[in-house]
Amino acid sequence: MEPLAAATRAAYLERLARDRFDVLVIGGGITGAGVALDAAVRGYRVALVEKVDFASGTSSKSTKLVHGGIRYLPQFDFALVHEALVERGLLVRNAPFLVQPLAFVLPLYQHARRPVGVPITPPGGYGLGLMLDAGLWMYDLMAGRLNVARHRRIKPEQALRLTPALRREGLRGAFLYYDAQTNDTRLTLAVLRTAAQHGAVITNYTEVIGFTRAADGKLNGAYVRDVLSNQEFTVRARHIINAAGVFAERVEALTGDESKVAIEPSKGIHLVVARDRVKISDTALVLPETDDGRILFVIPWGVRAVIGTTDTGKGDLDDPEATPQDIAYLLDHVNRFMDVNLTADDILSVYAGYRPLVKSREARAANLSRTHVVLQEANGMVSIVGGKLTTYRRMAQDTVDVIAKRDGMPIVHPTERLPLAGAVGWQDAQREIEAYGRRLGLSQDVLDHLKFNFGGNARSVLELVEEDTELGERIVPDLPYLRAEVIYACRGEMAQTLEDVLARRTRIMLEDMERGAGVAEDVAALMARELAWSADRTRAEVEKYRTLVGHQLEAEGLAARRR
Ligand code: FAD
Repeated sequence: MEPLAAATRAAYLERLARDRFDVLVIGGGITGAGVALDAAVRGYRVALVEKVDFASGTSSKSTKLVHGGIRYLPQFDFALVHEALVERGLLVRNAPFLVQPLAFVLPLYQHARRPVGVPITPPGGYGLGLMLDAGLWMYDLMAGRLNVARHRRIKPEQALRLTPALRREGLRGAFLYYDAQTNDTRLTLAVLRTAAQHGAVITNYTEVIGFTRAADGKLNGAYVRDVLSNQEFTVRARHIINAAGVFAERVEALTGDESKVAIEPSKGIHLVVARDRVKISDTALVLPETDDGRILFVIPWGVRAVIGTTDTGKGDLDDPEATPQDIAYLLDHVNRFMDVNLTADDILSVYAGYRPLVKSREARAANLSRTHVVLQEANGMVSIVGGKLTTYRRMAQDTVDVIAKRDGMPIVHPTERLPLAGAVGWQDAQREIEAYGRRLGLSQDVLDHLKFNFGGNARSVLELVEEDTELGERIVPDLPYLRAEVIYACRGEMAQTLEDVLARRTRIMLEDMERGAGVAEDVAALMARELAWSADRTRAEVEKYRTLVGHQLEAEGLAARRR
């Protein structure tokens, strides 16, 4: 049985209600996925429940960088940077198809005040270059043997060749340094798939609504509601892991016990634009300083570019929305450092999410550490909070170590060298997939997209195309997503709704001019065939999706421009 097929979900629901588990993980973002994998690989019987779709929370809203974080260097947060750089190296090794090195141009300007948030500005800005150089040397050194590539200083002309729209005026030079880029949703799916291959029972649209307790007061299970059918059942487990991200406090509150978790949600938004509007090559650009002492990125994403991010307060955690002010902030900064005159008319889509930062009363959100904390409650619940996409494996390891210690199990760390689903035999598989795809007449951009997002599993997508050539057609003419991916999303990635496919299994919602509203019917029809949807259900899915897109455009103040 395919471990994450939509059809497997029914069998998994039965098992959730029937079996006894060692570990119940609450939350199907990258953190919960990581915990499920680590625990399953160490031999635990694992269940994971996610109340919406996998990665539908923060884990699909990130900048999608696997990075140490150069901006933490001036904050002297070396432990975090070192930890993240080590994890970056492990991820490039364990999921080479999905975590790929990316070069960044970091420009240095004559009138720079505090680029990358350096703590002091030397008189006349002299010595700033040396300070940045020293920081990047540390960055390279901290990555150790797993470094992606060493940074170097480049001349203004070289910087302009890589990022032709960069402002020339006052440009003194630049640095070229390296980090890595991923697709956060697909990374979460790859981790979940690997966990399922190791026996974890994993379901989306299943919400924890309460807990059960043993006579000694310790939690020994959870009440779970299948959101799609409204059925409720009990999942029995010896260890309960709260990996609910910004919702961790709410999950903890369901116990009714004293609260330990304190999260400071901080909103970040991104803009997606056509790549030729910002004229970047395959190299990303760092906008070195913002009005609030941060940095911004302009990053290539196929034929699109993503610009982000912001760091502001909180709002409705269930419905993160970008406001016109958030959007204006990003446009202003891009236009300050680039000769592009970017306006709201250029925006293809906007996405917003909340960082689940660990609360600290003194610090402003922008300065809160991204470090994680594993909290043990008196009732036995273990909460894993904070962290970053990049450090998910380490967060999971630290969490499972806690329960392994409780159980008197040996402390082993098998995920350090564990390839994720799609990565096994990747070196040889890529050539074979290229050849297979070319035989089927697919273009290079489609093949590159399939390889990056699916790794070795791209073969399964190609097999669907071979069976039915219509599935080899693109869903949206200028984007590389194939109709076959819709089928694969149902058969191999537990897609349950139209939004699951358009917003997460693919990124059509983010990259398409119409945010997928124009192809909603077409994609729903493909899903209806796979999931045996009635005509009513199919229509309802399309309507719900279009309403969602309309709602986003209204909140962003962009609706009028699209009419
Ligand atoms: P989430 O992804 O939010 O997952 C928690 C899940 O728990 C949710 O899916 C939710 O539905 C589920 N849940 C909640 N309550 C229940 C319940 N009762 N029952 C069942 N399920 C429940 N990190 C990087 O390393 N690199 C970056 O480039 C980067 N950029 C970022 C940019 C922005 C704007 C933001 C906001 C974050 C960024 N991060 C980045 C940080 C990173 O995205 C997050 O740290 C990470 O995604 C958090 O994952 P999570 O699994 O803890 O939370």
